[in-house]
Amino acid sequence: MEKQNSYSFLRKKLEKMFTEAGIDELADIDWIMVEVTGKQRSMLPFVEYSEEDIQKIMEIAKKRAEHIPLGYILGKSYFFGREFKTNSSVLIPRLDTEVLIEQIVKEIKEFQEKHQTRAKVLDVGTGSGAIAITIQKETGADVTAVDVSSKALAVAKENAKNLKADVLFLESDLFENVCEKKFDFIVSNPPYIESAVIESLSPEVRDNEPILALDGGEDGLEFYRKIVLQSPKHLNKNGKLYFEIGYNQAEAVKKLMQNDFKKLRVIRDYSDNDRVVLGEIK
Ligand code: GLN
Repeated sequence: MEKQNSYSFLRKKLEKMFTEAGIDELADIDWIMVEVTGKQRSMLPFVEYSEEDIQKIMEIAKKRAEHIPLGYILGKSYFFGREFKTNSSVLIPRLDTEVLIEQIVKEIKEFQEKHQTRAKVLDVGTGSGAIAITIQKETGADVTAVDVSSKALAVAKENAKNLKADVLFLESDLFENVCEKKFDFIVSNPPYIESAVIESLSPEVRDNEPILALDGGEDGLEFYRKIVLQSPKHLNKNGKLYFEIGYNQAEAVKKLMQNDFKKLRVIRDYSDNDRVVLGEIK
């Protein structure tokens, strides 16, 4: 008979629990076990699970079965190889956002190489700080990050401190408190879900993530419109604007940008959906 403290027994038991709860992210089972045991994922089948481990695993799994995202249960999430504190005041960083990082980090490094100076970067709506902090750590750029939510900023500041990232955080509704400062790169993953669509999102997102970070107004484009309008006066010559976008928003966002921006490009994410639009100020 299968041992009740074996990986395969526990995994099957939890798969049943998750499936019955309508959760298809079965990989989360492994991540819970990694968290509790402190072992690597590949080692999980070889671990001896103690009574205490099993109890902890079940406790976390039960919360996850109530559709609470793991990033909020554990209070941390991983992004671009770093650990970020996450709570319900901030959106959990998404894997798809890493394509935005790859692109902007590459271009910031090129800029710094060419000009032999630190690039000035602004992250609008920083949330957990994942984008701003990762850019700062990867490039050493001079990074400013703003958010309208003081609770989000508290999380972002804690993350910057833990990761020893030198980022200037400002409480600001978009550019309101940025004053006259100008940047070489502006980046934003704004709220972009159409208001009417929010209801149909998964319960993990809809009932747990901050609506402030998701709701992009009636057509989902409200923040792109505002940022496109306000960013030209905050960009240096040849300055660039990078957006994360929803999978079906590339054309609409390009259209919003085409007046003031040139060299517009769309980049796809790891699931082959349009995910980033970027352009250079005319
Ligand atoms: N990518 C998020 C989601 O699909 C939305 C993030 C956003 O609105 N910026 O839930």
